[in-house]
Amino acid sequence: MEEREEISNLAGVQHIILVLSGKGGVGKSTVSTELALALHHAGKKVGILDVDLCGPSIPRMLNAQAKDVHQCDSGWVPVFLDQEKSISLMSIGFLLEKPDDAVVWRGPKKNALIKQFVNDVAWGELDFLIVDTPPGTSDEHISTVDALRTYKPIGAILVTTPQAVSVGDVRRELTFCKKTGLRVIGIIENMSGFVCPHCSECTNIFSKGGGEELAKHAGVPFLGCVPLDPQLTQSLEQGKDFMQEFPQSAAFPAIS
Ligand code: ADP
Repeated sequence: MEEREEISNLAGVQHIILVLSGKGGVGKSTVSTELALALHHAGKKVGILDVDLCGPSIPRMLNAQAKDVHQCDSGWVPVFLDQEKSISLMSIGFLLEKPDDAVVWRGPKKNALIKQFVNDVAWGELDFLIVDTPPGTSDEHISTVDALRTYKPIGAILVTTPQAVSVGDVRRELTFCKKTGLRVIGIIENMSGFVCPHCSECTNIFSKGGGEELAKHAGVPFLGCVPLDPQLTQSLEQGKDFMQEFPQSAAFPAIS
């Protein structure tokens, strides 16, 4: 009998980075987006996989809501965000009939879709696949890690705001990484200070340094602080042209 070798859709992906946070609203999707754009602007081929099934925000942030995914022989073709097809995105947002449709699914259905996302998206050749996850450490995280790690080792970036509550939640993420054997690439402290656009003075609205302190304590790299940038919030809310708008934000150089 002729044996047919299955070629994984992740065979051409060099590195997988999972972006995690303990809480919602700390800027995990923002950091995933900025990270993907920073890598893209550095000449890398990047894919973004949005596994935040109940709150997919990346299509809106990247002004790609109106786009559709379609099928090819090897699975789903992701949405390409530029003409050169060097940055691509897959999200449940593209599968919903209306962008505001709620995903009210139990664990097994979510897990099945995550497996499909991992196995059936035809990414092609990528230098980096950035995976944006829901907050916390839920079924979705375990399914994502289990499905991805059969193909490639995974690195994790943890996002926190400077406050103690958020930092405490990241401690749980660190435990999750340890238990699941994920390599922690480092911690990013987001919303870390506000630089006044008029006088350039930096005000630490939420205190500062919690992320760095935690990184030191846990013995993992601290990757840096991303300031609060009202222009970035506006761009993300309005889904402006990401190629033009993001690199101008104060967060972009910090992540680059
Ligand atoms: P999460 O994915 O953790 O739920 P988001 O990335 O969706 O968080 O961010 C929550 C909100 O905060 C969004 O409206 C986003 O525009 C805003 N935001 C996040 N980081 C920054 C930042 N550094 N500067 C300004 N606004 C930010």
